[in-house]
Amino acid sequence: MTRPFRTPPHAPRPGGPLSDLDAFITGLPKAELHVHHVGSASPRIVSELAARHPDSAVPTDPEALVDYFTFRDFGHFVEVYLSVVDLIRDSEDVRLLTYEVARDMARQNIRYAELTVTPFSSTSRGIPDAAFVEAIEDARKSAEAELGVVLRWCFDIPGEAGLEAAEETARIACDLRPEGLVSFGLGGPEIGVPRPQFKPYFDRAVAVGLHSVPHAGETTGPGTVWDALTALRAERIGHGTSASQDPELLAHLAEHRTPLEVCPTSNIATRAVRTLEEHPMKDMVDAGVLVTINSDDPPMFGTDLNTEYGIAARLLGLDAAGVAALAKNAVAASFLDAPAKARLAAEIDTYAAEWRG
Ligand SMILES: [Zn+2]
Repeated sequence: MTRPFRTPPHAPRPGGPLSDLDAFITGLPKAELHVHHVGSASPRIVSELAARHPDSAVPTDPEALVDYFTFRDFGHFVEVYLSVVDLIRDSEDVRLLTYEVARDMARQNIRYAELTVTPFSSTSRGIPDAAFVEAIEDARKSAEAELGVVLRWCFDIPGEAGLEAAEETARIACDLRPEGLVSFGLGGPEIGVPRPQFKPYFDRAVAVGLHSVPHAGETTGPGTVWDALTALRAERIGHGTSASQDPELLAHLAEHRTPLEVCPTSNIATRAVRTLEEHPMKDMVDAGVLVTINSDDPPMFGTDLNTEYGIAARLLGLDAAGVAALAKNAVAASFLDAPAKARLAAEIDTYAAEWRG
């Protein structure tokens, strides 16, 4: 579980003829900064994992799986999520999941993604830490060479699992320090899980050169975002939805160019925001905050990154040039080095110019 889920998701599903803007978005080279590893397991990937473990209750037939993925209620969502977690039993499952997530990204023209990985979920189920790290790194290298998708990792603490999980996550991040690891995060419920208790673990991660990227202000108020900034030294905020309630905080985020990772459909599915029309992303943009668009747990919420860009374009009133600028926000907010940022931004510019032509 990545968050407390209150209702079944009601995400808009892609379908119907593509508008010009949708077609532009589909072909646009993109970067994604907030997307979870297990939460990205599509019905196709789950079917491949289920085929490796015939004793599992998860159907292997793709059509039956689409049905399985149609959540009836919150209890059903939890059941499906946990049944997917249960399919990741050895390092080959980890490698397969990671590589196939990259394949789904390649189909959406995602060129670069910082994937939030929760090593504790696997090591606490008996996969040795070194084997886990080797599996994701092997998949990362294959995905880059074969699919043209560059992956980097954010290792996150599952907040609901407490300080034991924090210690284990910090240990794996700092001691094993895989080449693809760029940041350190914190997910799970916010209510009853104060951010400051994780300060020592974030301090250790920052000390070895990792960037701090906790979830904050998704289901609690702006005080949690302030805590993430001050106690956890956040350089980017996962969600930060409630920042819109605090003009001083918005001004602070804008002044310090601290980006927000906005995930519109996820916010509706979890009822962090009531309706898309009430989503505060426009207030964030108007306040000068660097807003990035992300999909969080896309198949679980019946969405993908292209759909999220379509939603953002509608809510922000963007044309193709505006959408291209939004895509460049994600490049700017990423932890790519300067030459790689310049290359991806140039790719977006070229695509947008050709589209106009
Ligand atoms: Zn998330």
